[in-house]
Amino acid sequence: MPDKVVTRFAPSPTGYLHIGGARTALFNWLYSKHTGGTMLLRIEDTDRERSTDAATSAILDGLSWLGLTWDGEPVSQFERAPRHREVAEELVRMGKAYYCYATPAELEAMRETARAKGLPPRYDGRWRDRDPSEAPADAKGAIRIKAPTEGETVVHDRVQGEVRFPNKDLDDFIILRSDGNPTYMHAVVVDDHDMGVTHIIRGDDHLTNAARQTVIYRAMGWDVPSMSHIPLIHGADGAKLSKRHGALGVEAYRALGYLPEALLNYLARLGWSHGDDEVMSIADMIAWFDIGDVNKGAARFDFAKLEALNGVHIRRMNDADLLDIFIATLPYLEGGPAIAARLDDRRKAQLLAALPGLKERAKTLVELVDGAAFLFTERPLPIDEKAAALLSGDARAILRGAHGALKAVSGDWTAATAEAAIRDYALAGGYKLGAVAQPLRAALTGKSTSPGVFDVLAVLGREESLARIADQID
Ligand code: GLU
Repeated sequence: MPDKVVTRFAPSPTGYLHIGGARTALFNWLYSKHTGGTMLLRIEDTDRERSTDAATSAILDGLSWLGLTWDGEPVSQFERAPRHREVAEELVRMGKAYYCYATPAELEAMRETARAKGLPPRYDGRWRDRDPSEAPADAKGAIRIKAPTEGETVVHDRVQGEVRFPNKDLDDFIILRSDGNPTYMHAVVVDDHDMGVTHIIRGDDHLTNAARQTVIYRAMGWDVPSMSHIPLIHGADGAKLSKRHGALGVEAYRALGYLPEALLNYLARLGWSHGDDEVMSIADMIAWFDIGDVNKGAARFDFAKLEALNGVHIRRMNDADLLDIFIATLPYLEGGPAIAARLDDRRKAQLLAALPGLKERAKTLVELVDGAAFLFTERPLPIDEKAAALLSGDARAILRGAHGALKAVSGDWTAATAEAAIRDYALAGGYKLGAVAQPLRAALTGKSTSPGVFDVLAVLGREESLARIADQID
């Protein structure tokens, strides 16, 4: 039996969880779920200057909102520094690494020489074969790996294919600094090995690191995990993703009213596809995802597509689930806190009843807030400009008649009984239905668009409906 799949997401806590990071997490999560494996979380906080607790919290919060769960406790890379040191020293004992005492001035001179020849800066290996007894007494050396000098290092990448790196281009890079701190390159390898990671899935900006990391694995005699370097996300115009394109933290997408499921669906489809399927549930993605099917080409982020997809997910979600997500998201949405403050049981029931009509018109939860606002405003309603236009001319006279017709409804107050009353009234008065429905809508909601006006009447109930209409005719 092959080993159980262990993936990991390894963000650096230097900022929020951005959209590219969310997609990397998603691919790791999907692959682990698809294979019945686990996904671990490692916070790569070795850069003490730039790492913050606030960023770590934002990343955990973003993952949780998206439902991208990890197994076990998050691992702090910084806390594992003693272990990184231990492995570096072990490599020295094994003769696979060595102490280097080159001074900053010497290193600068090496860089100068390389620059003059138009070569990338590289270390010339001057301490590689020297006897440890030559070490200066007063200096603490850095530990460098003995990288192979001939042949090539091949990364077998499930997305990029076989990527070959000539070893003459890999210099003896530092794995432990002279202050005793590990380099990032080294820490990642030791952590992935110790955490039992079988599959590394990350952005293709780490592809060249994969070659250097392979050198460390080989030196330790460890198995190299399966590697998948996924293409970065670009803007719709093909340029590197910037804020303008959507390079926001995932919490910004929450505030813009996207459903986690829709955002995950959209992100999954950036660089991966399953036939012509565009709309996928989480269960679909888990069932269909395979890392080997991810494309090599850069994916393009397109807000319009995300929004359209979000609308589809809103419409196809069942009302009770949508209501739960909507209520949970209210604190983050523009206009949401005001609604949350008034959300008693009666209004919750009204909202649930109005959802079928509301969700037909909303591509985001922000639009849903807007659409639902009429349920939460107190009389007399503010009437927006377009609605005011619908109440001009003889509209108020028509509305007065409609008020009378609705007041006369006996028995149940439902969309059907309200509709029958209005249709009869329009017919008797020789009005087109729209000539009655439009001013009604304006009076009931303060807006020119809303769910079907008979549904609005039903949701608001007899008393509130009649009162809102009366407000506009007196
Ligand atoms: N910490 C790295 C980053 O945020 C990821 C490193 C890795 O996945 O190996 O880009």
